[in-house]
Order: sequence, then C-alpha cells, then structure tokens
Amino acid sequence: MKLVKDRGIVLKTEKSGETSLKVRLFAKDSGRMICIAKGARKPGSAFFGLLTPFSVVDFETATSRYLPFFRSVSRIEYFQDLTMDPEKIVYASMILEIVDKTAEPHEDIETLRLLYISLRAMNHAEFSGEKIHWWFIVHFLKIHGVWPDPETCAGCQGKLAHAVLIPDSGGLFCETCAGHTGTQGLSLDTKLREVLVFLTANPPEKSNAIRINRHGAVTLTRWLWKLLELHYDKTEYLNTKKAVERLL
Ligand SMILES: [Zn+2]
Repeated sequence: MKLVKDRGIVLKTEKSGETSLKVRLFAKDSGRMICIAKGARKPGSAFFGLLTPFSVVDFETATSRYLPFFRSVSRIEYFQDLTMDPEKIVYASMILEIVDKTAEPHEDIETLRLLYISLRAMNHAEFSGEKIHWWFIVHFLKIHGVWPDPETCAGCQGKLAHAVLIPDSGGLFCETCAGHTGTQGLSLDTKLREVLVFLTANPPEKSNAIRINRHGAVTLTRWLWKLLELHYDKTEYLNTKKAVERLL
C-alpha cells in the first residue's frame, strides 16, 4: 500500500456505493485524480461535508486495487461567498468542469494556480462571474500555448482591428488575410478584440474595468467557447454550458 500526501481542489463528487463518495480532484503533484472517500456520506464521518466542489484540501491517500482512497482530509480553504451566489456557482462550476475534462493525471502547477486564482477572484463580491470566466479561458489557453496574439495578424503581421479566427490554424487574421484562406472564420469586432487584449494583459481583479454591452458579452462568451472547443474537443459538451446559456 503506497501512501501519498498532496494538496488539491475538489472538482466534482459522485455517490459511490451506499455511503461513499467518488471525488475528482486536481492536485499539486498528481494532477487530475479520482479518489474514494469511504463512508463520507455518513454524518459523523471524518470526511463529512469536507469534500465539496470548490474546496482546497490537504489529504493523504492510499493505493488500492480499484481507486486510491483517502486516509485523511483537511480543508484549508473554501470559497464560501462564491457558493452563496447562484450566478457565480454556474460560472465557477464551468471552470471546474473545463479543468476536469481537459487535465491529465500529472503535475500541472500553472493550471492549478490559474484555477485557484480564478475561484478566489470569483469569491469576492465585487467581481463578476462572467468576466472572471472569460479571464480564465484566455489564460487557460495562454498557459497551454494556444492563445492567439490578439494584436497582430497571424498572416501579414499587421496590426489587427476587426479580427477573424481561422479554425484550421487557430490564429487571428485581418479581414484581407482571412479572405485569402477561403475558410469561414469566427469574426470579432474591434471592440471585442480590445477586450481580449485587456484580458490577456491584466490580472482578474482588473476585469471590472471592462465595459461591454449584453450583446457583446454574449458574443464574446460564445467566441471564447468556440476557441476552447477548437483545441479541446471534450469541452464541446460541457454539462455546465446549459446553465450558463440560461444566464446569457
Ligand atoms: Zn493580415
């Protein structure tokens, strides 16, 4: 039996057996992992109420023939204010699901840090769940090396105004260069492209400075989802999308 100590964020839990929980986490050393919390649904269990999504936990696991199981868990942080705002729960659940669907079972400190910073920002009353979720997607793509330069045309290297995302290349092009590719791209007007420049360059706490009307916000959300799907096809069918759609 191998014992492992780690720290991570709970992404999702499912019932397992009569009284246990199957817990999906994103951990510092192990990356994405699934562990069993034996008896965690029984009041009086040492795990009861600790392993809820959005919890940051220190834990020790032991290997077993099936999945590893928890030997001990202590919760070191919980984003409680976030969980009292229904709209923020929806956006925060989406970023947890994006990590759950895309992360690998190995160390990825940058993604873990990004997830933590995003949840911490959403936990503050003054920040909007929608804007922090844009910020998360931009920086998620950036740290994975697939974020297009929002200022320069990937074709002629000219400065962009109105930009077009060409799916095959994943790059942003000016209208002239986009026309030459002969492919249908995803358009982004100058105003929305400027929002992307801002999100790329600033920490999440600055996101309140973004001024954008509802139509623009919805367009930007769908555009960012498309770009995410282009690189991570598993994000096309996020369960949390329906809930976010209702807010748009
Ligand atoms: Zn160009």
